[in-house]
Amino acid sequence: LGRRPGNEESLRFEYNGVTFDQDCFHVVAGLNAVDTREFTEQTFRALKEHGQVCARMGAYKPRTSPYSFQGYGKQCLPYVFELAGKYGIRVISMEVTRDEHLDEIREALKQTGNPTGVMLQIGTRNTQNFELLKSVGSQNEFPILLKRGFGITLHESLLAAEYVASAGNRNIVFCLRGMKTNFGDPHRNLIDFGHVPVVKRLTRMPVCVDPSHSVGTRDVAPDGLTDVFHVAAQGVIAGANLVLTDVHPQPKNALVDAAQALTLEELPHFLDDCALVREAY
Ligand code: PEP
Repeated sequence: LGRRPGNEESLRFEYNGVTFDQDCFHVVAGLNAVDTREFTEQTFRALKEHGQVCARMGAYKPRTSPYSFQGYGKQCLPYVFELAGKYGIRVISMEVTRDEHLDEIREALKQTGNPTGVMLQIGTRNTQNFELLKSVGSQNEFPILLKRGFGITLHESLLAAEYVASAGNRNIVFCLRGMKTNFGDPHRNLIDFGHVPVVKRLTRMPVCVDPSHSVGTRDVAPDGLTDVFHVAAQGVIAGANLVLTDVHPQPKNALVDAAQALTLEELPHFLDDCALVREAY
């Protein structure tokens, strides 16, 4: 994945009609945790209305507490895929935590007639789950969105990406999502989007930023813009190729991370503002 003399070209892959490389720009908005069929449909409908072809949808939720909602799992996959197809969503970023999840995704895609594509998301808690990295790396059917580990060095997270690549799959997007500190930061995680150009300089992977999991709130700054947008803009200025963002039709009732999802009314402003920043830089 490294950038070396004679090997400078950005890694480019096309998946289900969507191109990913160090020049692309996609917003990947959607439900942190898949919700009812109705909320899922409202979310996809809003994404389509605003011209989006990528979405995030969490079916398997790795939670800090075993008593928190763990995701609907395979039960929700048929309606997620069917509705994604109905609203023209081509790529869904979906976290997986073990091998069986890949089989369940494959099976549900087959049963619903492959209406959409899935990018396997490896969450920050699994960045160093080497067996999982090797197994998602040893298939070429699905690309990978690998989150940076929130408590390890950037170099260690880049080596995690090498685990995936060296198992055979180089269709990887690297995602920054903030770092854990003990300083009582106002945001959930300390923003690390200044590392976007570092990752782009060191490697040939497209780089994503996740402002929702970095900020952890949908608080609005005195200028009327959300903190989620403010930090997304930092990532975009720094050269991010993807922006992963939580939205929900009724954020207060979201099943996971209810404090951070943007509303569907905020979505078009967020998309327009990100596009403006991207154009300006
Ligand atoms: C997520 O994006 O749903 C998620 C759990 O993110 P992270 O792994 O960065 O905490």
